[in-house]
Amino acid sequence: MPKFWTGEPPKRCGICKGLINGAFVDGATSSGVWAYMCRVCHHLYGVGLGTGKGQMYTQSGRVWVRSDELPTPSLSKWLVK
Ligand SMILES: [Zn+2]
Repeated sequence: MPKFWTGEPPKRCGICKGLINGAFVDGATSSGVWAYMCRVCHHLYGVGLGTGKGQMYTQSGRVWVRSDELPTPSLSKWLVK
């Protein structure tokens, strides 16, 4: 499994069209369509993280690190804003 996002990261969320800021999820939505999602949209429309559900990537300098295997407290930190 890749630990880093290779290629160009999405600039905007595929659902709300908001700018991706620091983290995004490449994952399934409740309608079954896959999309690049911001954290808020993933919280609202995503089906979770993991194989077949979605992968979260967090920006760390110039690289995007896969972060969906972080423990839950780290993820909830992202969602509280
Ligand atoms: Zn969004």
